[in-house]
Amino acid sequence: MKTRRDFLIGTGLTAAAWLARGGAVAQAAGQAAAPDGGAQEPAANTDPAVQPNPDLPQELRTAAADEKIRTTKLTDTIFLLQGVGGNVVCQIGPDGKLLIDSGIATGTHHLLDALAKLDEHRLRVLINTHWHFDHTDGNAALHLEGAFIIAQDNTRVRLEKPQYMAVYDVHFPSAPDAALPQETFPETETLWLNNDEEELIHTPDAHTDSDIFIQFHRGNVIHTGDLWFNGMYPLIDLSSGGTINGMIRGVDEVLQRADDRTKIVPGHGALGNKAELQGYREMLVAVADRVEKLKASGKTVQEAVAAKPTADLDAAWAKGAIKPGTFVALVYDSL
Ligand SMILES: [Zn+2]
Ligand SMILES: [Zn+2]
Repeated sequence: MKTRRDFLIGTGLTAAAWLARGGAVAQAAGQAAAPDGGAQEPAANTDPAVQPNPDLPQELRTAAADEKIRTTKLTDTIFLLQGVGGNVVCQIGPDGKLLIDSGIATGTHHLLDALAKLDEHRLRVLINTHWHFDHTDGNAALHLEGAFIIAQDNTRVRLEKPQYMAVYDVHFPSAPDAALPQETFPETETLWLNNDEEELIHTPDAHTDSDIFIQFHRGNVIHTGDLWFNGMYPLIDLSSGGTINGMIRGVDEVLQRADDRTKIVPGHGALGNKAELQGYREMLVAVADRVEKLKASGKTVQEAVAAKPTADLDAAWAKGAIKPGTFVALVYDSL
């Protein structure tokens, strides 16, 4: 049986939306929480692409404050660190620690404790996979610990200004200066640290307009960022320039670079491999094709959702916090 902790690890950003919808928000709205922890569908005539949770940042910060970090060794020098928020990867070695994503700020002390146990070298570089709060909220604290922050251009552009995420109806203030990347790049960047080659690759208009994935060539590890929600319908953040077709193209790029032994870290969910990512890619393509046909036939977004084009896929993929109807609407609106 899944514990609340497992759920939080598995769903990251979306966990708070689930908590809120199944808990305080759903009750306040007079909706009954379903026994599986989800909430009933919102009343008709609401935008199907919205699962409102304006309290999302605070929900995540509250959850992260109590959440210890779970560490998994991927290679002798590369580790997966999981808690509330997106999956974090740390590479250790003589050049200092390289970290991918910074999690939620209230969990930073847990993250630093976990990093200290890996080796004695200081934190040197922090890479952000994209601008979202559950991957960058710890930036400022980690920068003060000495991390030089690198990200795609749009991560800095978006962190510098207030952001709005329509899917959760949530506003984010601009990030403090210490949280902003010190170095940005438009397409690709290569680092040579800790006896490995780390390649950072931008995938345009995917989950957002700021996504990169990171390939450790020698370690044979890839962190996909939020291109991949392992085993779940993903969030596509249309407010930040995300699109289903960009997401599929991004996943294809990861697949081209992976082999059967590559350890692939998703933005959310369990550590995966190429076969699992391929299965996720097939799901994305199937949903995109079906929704595109509905849209081309003149169906409105509400009609497309009502047609339940993912019905045969939901048993396998509706385990995360993005509900099938929300996913269909996000796909529809991005086509
Ligand atoms: Zn995320
Ligand atoms: Zn994200």
